[in-house]
Amino acid sequence: EAITVAELANRMAERVGDVIKALMQNGVMATQNQSIDADTAELIIEEFGHNVTRVSDADVEQVIHTVEDKPEDLQSRAPIVTIMGHVDHGKTSLLDAIRKTKVVAGEAGGITQHIGAYQVTTESGSTLTFLDTPGHAAFTSMRSRGAQVTDIVVLVVAADDAVMPQTVEAINHAKAAGVPMIVAINKIDKPSANPTKVRTDLLQHEVVVEQMSGEVQDVEVSAISGQGLDELLEAIALQAEILELKANPGRSAQGAVIEAQLDVGRGPVATVLVQNGTLRQGDIFVVGEQWGKVRAMENDQGQRVKEAGPSVPVEVLGLNGTPEAGDVLNVVETEAQAREIAEYRQQVAKDKRAAAGAATTLEALMQKAKEDENVSELPVLIKADVQGSAEAIVQAMEKIGNDEVRVRVLHYGVGAITETDVGLAEASGAPILGFNVRANASARNSANQKGVEVRYYSVIYDLVDDVKAAASGLLSNEI
Ligand code: GDP
Repeated sequence: EAITVAELANRMAERVGDVIKALMQNGVMATQNQSIDADTAELIIEEFGHNVTRVSDADVEQVIHTVEDKPEDLQSRAPIVTIMGHVDHGKTSLLDAIRKTKVVAGEAGGITQHIGAYQVTTESGSTLTFLDTPGHAAFTSMRSRGAQVTDIVVLVVAADDAVMPQTVEAINHAKAAGVPMIVAINKIDKPSANPTKVRTDLLQHEVVVEQMSGEVQDVEVSAISGQGLDELLEAIALQAEILELKANPGRSAQGAVIEAQLDVGRGPVATVLVQNGTLRQGDIFVVGEQWGKVRAMENDQGQRVKEAGPSVPVEVLGLNGTPEAGDVLNVVETEAQAREIAEYRQQVAKDKRAAAGAATTLEALMQKAKEDENVSELPVLIKADVQGSAEAIVQAMEKIGNDEVRVRVLHYGVGAITETDVGLAEASGAPILGFNVRANASARNSANQKGVEVRYYSVIYDLVDDVKAAASGLLSNEI
């Protein structure tokens, strides 16, 4: 926790020379680019008659969640819709079909560009926002980062198929998130379509559609012929009305990142879905561990916009770094605040990574399991000299454990242990088990640095035995 003299002066809005002088009077000799510790900085800040604010979680909360919205300031907003369902049931086709037919039809320059979300207007005049990445992987990763973005899930089930594993997963995700579903029975144009089978299948997963006298709206559609698309959109609009989705366009913006990347020409670019308030050009914001100032914004049709209200997706330029999908964006008052919060979060994340890195030995995993009842998986990474051994080890790993604990082989392969292996192991807090192979020099260094445990074996039995011991360590915790 240090700050350069120049930065300190900048944040206090005082002249650098004056700050250096004040430091000298306190017996500290420093040039403007040198860092001073937090305590010294605090002393100087007080001397200049400013308030000291060291950032903490509570401070961040305070800066970010300033005002409660008054009921009279709330206005209805468009629902945010995610399409989920089994692979090949037509999620992408449906998203494309909806976009093509409905994107603010006829508007000049209406060439849609992919920014991760788009808006459409229904026949009856409702606006809907679709997340343009189908599937529940994005949905869950966003949720895990704290951004609950989706208001309504459209569950796509192919009429010529049935409820499949990923259909069930999607149902479970929607239920876990408490998000209402609408069922789109797709591929209704196919001669083999059997929508009744889909409806009865769904019953087994406690999804009772209207046609079965339930509450969940179901619509027969075809992404290819366009049949039922309008009906589907109206069903979504109706569901949105029931939800009474509201936001306050008059406040400073809060949003969620749905996509972000480093663009060669434009620098870091993020698509932000505004959730509350209005995001404006020139706004200063923090987003996850990054911060920035809105330099420019483009909507889903590639048009420059100066502001974006609730439920509107915009591509934002002017970031200092690339955030991650699911990161929350908050507009703050000053650049100093934005930077301070971002730096604070970077530090917290770094500490967390260090703590996670420290837990990659088998012993540490067992210890962690003792502290955390939820750890019931022992992740490992396996490298072996030949394919046959690797597979034999993986098979043995799968046999270890029971209902409560199991060994999860994150990755296995043939050949020396590399830096990539170490990276993966670190990210998942797993040890690397090498059978008749060694780590190369860079992997060894990296493992040492990151605190990833690498164990070497030449007898499969020994390897299995060690993992068993670690797993039973986890087991005894359950008793
Ligand atoms: P996703 O994996 O769920 O995104 O599925 P896709 O959108 O990629 O569709 C999988 C396949 O089904 C593609 O070959 C599509 O052309 C086809 N398909 C999608 N929707 C329909 C439909 O309504 N009718 C017919 N006949 N084929 C469809």
